[in-house]
Amino acid sequence: MKNILIVGAGFSGAVIARELAEQGHRLTVIDQREHVAGNCHSARDAETDVMVHVYGPHIFHTDHERVWEYINRHGEMIPFVNRVKAVSKGRVYSLPINLHTINQFFGKTLAPDEARAFLESQADLSIESPQTFEEQALRFVGKSLYEAFFEGYTRKQWGVSPSELPASILKRLPVRFNYDDNYYSHRYQGMPRDGYTRIVESILDHPGIEVRLQTRYEPAMRQAADHVFWTGPLDAWFGFDLGRLGYRTLDFETVRCDGDLQGTAVINYCDSDVPYTRISEHKYFSPWEKHEKSIAYREYSRLCGEDDIPYYPIRLVKDKALLQQYVDRAREEKGVTFVGRLATYRYLDMDVTIKEALDVSDAVKPALEAGARLDPFYVNPLG
Ligand SMILES: Cc1cc2nc3c(=O)[nH]c(=O)nc-3n(C[C@H](O)[C@H](O)[C@H](O)COP(=O)(O)OP(=O)(O)OC[C@H]3O[C@@H](n4cnc5c(N)ncnc54)[C@H](O)[C@@H]3O)c2cc1C
Repeated sequence: MKNILIVGAGFSGAVIARELAEQGHRLTVIDQREHVAGNCHSARDAETDVMVHVYGPHIFHTDHERVWEYINRHGEMIPFVNRVKAVSKGRVYSLPINLHTINQFFGKTLAPDEARAFLESQADLSIESPQTFEEQALRFVGKSLYEAFFEGYTRKQWGVSPSELPASILKRLPVRFNYDDNYYSHRYQGMPRDGYTRIVESILDHPGIEVRLQTRYEPAMRQAADHVFWTGPLDAWFGFDLGRLGYRTLDFETVRCDGDLQGTAVINYCDSDVPYTRISEHKYFSPWEKHEKSIAYREYSRLCGEDDIPYYPIRLVKDKALLQQYVDRAREEKGVTFVGRLATYRYLDMDVTIKEALDVSDAVKPALEAGARLDPFYVNPLG
């Protein structure tokens, strides 16, 4: 039996805690916040009684059978399909770009093959191997759709021109030649009936786990632990002494109203002259509930400062060079494992977070049993 300290009570920390507690170890999970569930935290708004996604909208979607079973063991998931709308130049469209969007945008009634041929006539075929986000978009959807849906939105989201971002951000062809407007293509998609925080509370509900909230990590805490799992920012472990890894942060402006604000969960605002990137109306994430009032978030993206919450890792060339240095140092550390979105400086969806936490647990259980040293990383942050 080992005494293990886990820093961070998000999905990463909670899943590892539960897995190791079930193996008979004693776990202490600390979090500097006053709640568990990390950025997935959801709570009822006192005024409207709507379940609010406090750190921005979270929709659960996965193809991993084990992850879907895991989450369903800890809460009731209700099927939910995210159908996002986009406002561009004063008109509303369907996202991701699909046959409806193309027909709406160009004022046509094209069939799938006709739309495919039409978009090819729009695409910039002179770009043979796209290097930047902008080239990738121009190559696949052409100038008009790029300017309407990608240029302004991306600039607001990342704070730089799409011509300065790598093509890899827009990995797949962002167009569907049918009327499928389901934002995700995963087999399992749902929303927790009682919110994500309840699920994480259930994961942490084990006699071998002690949770301490409003508790910030102090290096002295290491002494009492045989091992530490760190799910905070990688650079924070080292006191940021080589500099800060770049993040985008978000500001949420709360809007309340009687009735409905926008009639759907998420609307993206694509134009540069609208300062926010999207509006999320929270009651539409729980469509099985009825509420007379509504609460929504206008979401603004900006560079993350020292006192802000790090949301999206920027991972441009400069950040990757710094990441390499921190990873090299972290590999020399003993008695600590870096896991989760912040400690590996990657954007991770919840299902990937849970999957990785289960994989890490599978890997460390035999090592703990054998009294062997645990690795600093089980996932390569640079990979
Ligand atoms: C705006 C936004 C929308 C998203 N939407 C979706 C979505 O729709 N679907 C989806 O699947 N995923 C979504 N995600 C991703 C999801 O938020 C992550 O997968 C998940 O939060 C990762 O969990 P984690 O435990 O690794 O990190 P976190 O949830 O960030 O948890 C880390 C915890 O560590 C704590 N901590 C850090 N440093 C310290 C310290 N020094 N001392 C004590 N505690 C500390 C923090 O307070 C935090 O609670 C979204 C992310 C963002 C930013």
